[in-house]
Amino acid sequence: MKIYLRLLSYLKPYWKAIILFLLCLQITALLGGANLGVIIPFLKVLFSHSSFSTVTDTSIPQTAGKIYLFLKIKFNQFFFQVSQLVALKRLCLLILMLFLLKNVFGYLMNVISIIIEQRVLRDIRYQIYEHLHTLSLSFFHKRRTGELVSRINNDVNTVKGAVAIDTLMIVRQAVQSLVYLVVAFWAAWRLALLAVLLLPSTAILAAILSRKLRKRSHRMQEKMADITSVLVETISGIRVVKAFTMEKDEKRKFRHHINEYLRAHLRFEWLSSLAGPLTEVVACLAAIIILWYGGIQILETKTLSPERFFVFLAAILSMISPLNQISKANSAIQTGIAAGQRIFKILETKPEILDRVGAKEIKGIYQSIVLEDVSFEYETGKPVLQNINLKIKIGEVAALVGPSGAGKSTLSDLIARFYEPTRGKIKVDEIDFQEFTVASWRRLIGLVPQETILFNDTIYNNIAYSRKDARKEEVIGAAKAANAQGFILQLPEGYETIVGERGVRLSGGEKQRIAVARAILKNPPLLILDEATSALDSESERLVQEALKYLMQNRTTLVIAHRLSTVKRADKIIVLENGKIVEVGTHHSLIQKQGPYQRLYEMQFMT
Ligand code: ATP
Repeated sequence: MKIYLRLLSYLKPYWKAIILFLLCLQITALLGGANLGVIIPFLKVLFSHSSFSTVTDTSIPQTAGKIYLFLKIKFNQFFFQVSQLVALKRLCLLILMLFLLKNVFGYLMNVISIIIEQRVLRDIRYQIYEHLHTLSLSFFHKRRTGELVSRINNDVNTVKGAVAIDTLMIVRQAVQSLVYLVVAFWAAWRLALLAVLLLPSTAILAAILSRKLRKRSHRMQEKMADITSVLVETISGIRVVKAFTMEKDEKRKFRHHINEYLRAHLRFEWLSSLAGPLTEVVACLAAIIILWYGGIQILETKTLSPERFFVFLAAILSMISPLNQISKANSAIQTGIAAGQRIFKILETKPEILDRVGAKEIKGIYQSIVLEDVSFEYETGKPVLQNINLKIKIGEVAALVGPSGAGKSTLSDLIARFYEPTRGKIKVDEIDFQEFTVASWRRLIGLVPQETILFNDTIYNNIAYSRKDARKEEVIGAAKAANAQGFILQLPEGYETIVGERGVRLSGGEKQRIAVARAILKNPPLLILDEATSALDSESERLVQEALKYLMQNRTTLVIAHRLSTVKRADKIIVLENGKIVEVGTHHSLIQKQGPYQRLYEMQFMT
């Protein structure tokens, strides 16, 4: 219920539209009821044409008031104090008008409800996306991309059952049923009372069904997330799939997941489809009891006129369809609640990296970045970095080296503040950098990752990604400095060429140079660079190295080094092993020491 109410709270901004919707709803329902009410005079015109007022109205209380009497008299005058044919014509016209109006308002109602529904879905989608951006890297590491895509696409779509059309549909059907019920009471109150007493049996049935439905829908949506995950993974990793000829296995995996989904979906649909007929059968049983009791009233006790019984029946039968729809809408709501549960789980995830209360903006780095006894663990009890003490002075190039898994990326991620140290402090100019806002710190950092991520946009926009306000000359200047101008101008549309997702139309070296141009344009005081390990041909390598050299000039740089030229150029080499610093020094001093660096140098850099 809590989740349902929370979902409904998304409707709040659209209260005006909802009032309009409810108005249309009311009118449609009333017109539906009026259509039934017209049956009596219609039958009278056809079969007797006696005055309407001569029928004893025992079921209408004396307090019904003057308005009712006035309307009745007018109605009688209009339809009964004329010839039978004229009355028939007028009645036909009245019915046509009532139906026409009912459908016009019905249409309006549908349009309004769809507008509300789609706006709410848009709001929820945006809220999740917005929230995702506040979450820390660890959140994304723990989840599959496909699962998140599925939350935003499929779950949000499913939630609509609970937030809009179906909820509003329940209101509509309930109002409609209520109107029919009033008509039924008006026609034959004893029978209507009996009907009301029989109703709860349907309600109990609906409650049992909805619990089961919610469980099944939850499972169905989990399976959909699995499918999306496999899709995202295999499409983005298609190169690996093809290279290892894993197509058959991937197809098998996908088939398994879609079959699982099919099973889960069918299990849900079976139950969902059963809900309608089951409620209808129960309702029908009730109807038979009423029919029998009504028949007795007409035939034996003579307390009911056949016309009234006919109207009562029409009203009750008309109620079956809305009630049926209520039970159907209920299953959509249950599915929506299940989806809402998963959506709220994401929305309730707290970002791990948060600004401290009173955090200040940092404007620049003027002396040094110091790591004081820093330790870090991703999972409790499994330290990845231990007691790191390190000072990087302003303008220095510090190269991190070490075997795979030593903790180099983790250390650079800590400095970029993607994670907070488990113990120890990172200080910038003697101040704990947690005193500063995350955003202002990141503005000082230029990050060049190992694998360049290019967005599906033009070359120009990919370079200007970090500085949307950059002038054209600045963007071109950065591209030139990164040795990228040459190849860019050879592309079909130069800077306006769209690079595909992940820049598939560029070579490895070209992509790296775009990444360097991006960092040059941002011109950050601190550069965190993860050198690409993949070998480039010598010309491409030369161009990239030149670009990097330019980028590192007069800049504090922390580089995860994989190339000899980089370590030789570094002011300080930090050798990491098993999460600990084992050596610090320049290339020459460390070679002379003949320690861990010497061994690493022979194994890694000599090649
Ligand atoms: P490489 O040169 O191969 O990239 P590295 O020196 O950069 O290695 P890290 O990526 O920092 O090493 O990893 C250090 C250790 O932390 C490894 O044992 C790794 O398995 C572990 N690790 C890295 N990322 C995570 C994570 N998100 N969750 C849990 N453990 C992690």
